[in-house]
Amino acid sequence: MATETQPAAINQLEKARLQLEKCGDLLDLDRGLRDRLGTPDKVVQTHSPVRMDDGSVRMFAGYRVQHNNILGPYTGGIRFHPSVDIDRITGLAMLMTWQCSLVGLPYGGAKGGVTLDPHQLSVRELERVTRRYTTDMAQVFDPHKDIPSPDMNTGPREMAWIMDTWSNNHGYAAPGVATGKPTAVGGTVGRSSATGRGVVLALAELLKYQGRELKGLRVAIQGFGKLGSVTAKLLHERGAKVVAVSDITGGLYREDGLDVKDLLGYTKVHRFLKGYAEATPITEEAVLYLPCDVLIPASLGSQIHVGNAHRIQAPIVVEGANAPVTFEADHLLEQRGIQVLPDIFANAGGAIVSYFEWVQGSQQLFWTESEVNARLQDIMARAFKNMVANVETRGLSFRMGAYVEAVGRVANALTLRGLYP
Ligand code: NAD
Repeated sequence: MATETQPAAINQLEKARLQLEKCGDLLDLDRGLRDRLGTPDKVVQTHSPVRMDDGSVRMFAGYRVQHNNILGPYTGGIRFHPSVDIDRITGLAMLMTWQCSLVGLPYGGAKGGVTLDPHQLSVRELERVTRRYTTDMAQVFDPHKDIPSPDMNTGPREMAWIMDTWSNNHGYAAPGVATGKPTAVGGTVGRSSATGRGVVLALAELLKYQGRELKGLRVAIQGFGKLGSVTAKLLHERGAKVVAVSDITGGLYREDGLDVKDLLGYTKVHRFLKGYAEATPITEEAVLYLPCDVLIPASLGSQIHVGNAHRIQAPIVVEGANAPVTFEADHLLEQRGIQVLPDIFANAGGAIVSYFEWVQGSQQLFWTESEVNARLQDIMARAFKNMVANVETRGLSFRMGAYVEAVGRVANALTLRGLYP
């Protein structure tokens, strides 16, 4: 099994910089601009003491990396995972800058996280970690400067704790300080399903471009968390056949397509996929190698690497997760003619609807779910069009088509705004 904790040939930050170099060549960017784009504006590391339920005190390392805010305030997810470290967070912060730029959000990129395994902590311990981390970042997070959002192992509950802690530290209620909150405390409808919906919209745009449709398509999804489960549900509703899914406890396969509704009911009760009797159990890794039309990695990064890229059979890979394909494997997939819809496009739905939440919160005017979904669809369609224009005119892969668009806009803004002082 490939895990993010396993040493990768190239780490997340090196990968992000190599991709930037490749893009810099295509855009003919000078060295100064490349260095600026490849370096984060600010890196904050904290060491938070937290009292455990047994009375002991444990230290937790936390990070926030602000990559670039030339297009607007920083934004980006907060990840709770044992693999969280400075290089990974910095690389992911860069991806966030490109993602916001590609889909036209007035935001810059950031990422944060705490190195921990949430499954080893009680809910009260997790709350104390979240609140202490937020307090240590009280001068970093800000509705006008840096807005955190959910990522792996964080969701509406953690965003409500962040918003509440920051508001208490500053003496006023600040719903705009975090997005992905529950609707009862200023969240938006449609946010919890936004990333999965965005993945489905991304795939639908590609199929439309190819003159095909979702109905009947055979899809395998690795990861059945917030992203993978919603993606499976929406694909199933739109007539695709979800033939396999997996989570940390293993995989499930059904030739005729899984009954996703039934499976969601099962995981609501049992939390994990393990033990579900209406499908054939397979390993979590086997999901990656099945013969199917589309593979959607939706768990950790670096799942498709030099050691297994030759085993991928799906002709289309949609990157639901952040950076699920390593830099080297990306080249191997491209050589094999496998089309990869890149993360900065495919999983942008969460960032887009987080932006909607922030806009609605600042106007105190809330939209309906159909308005949210329609606007999301418009933005995804526009981003696809811009990416494809580069693919067609320059003969690029989808990834490089997206990068040229995204990095080009940030580079242009940097040039226009000039260098202060
Ligand atoms: P999550 O914690 O809700 O779910 C992760 C899932 O992956 C779980 O089902 C877990 O069991 C599974 N998993 C972990 N290791 C696995 C393995 N080795 N094999 C198979 N499955 C494994 O996280 P999420 O929010 O669904 O995020 C998943 C990915 O999507 C991450 O890369 C994240 O950065 C990215 N992403 C999420 C959002 C969002 O809004 N949630 C937005 C953009 C990108």
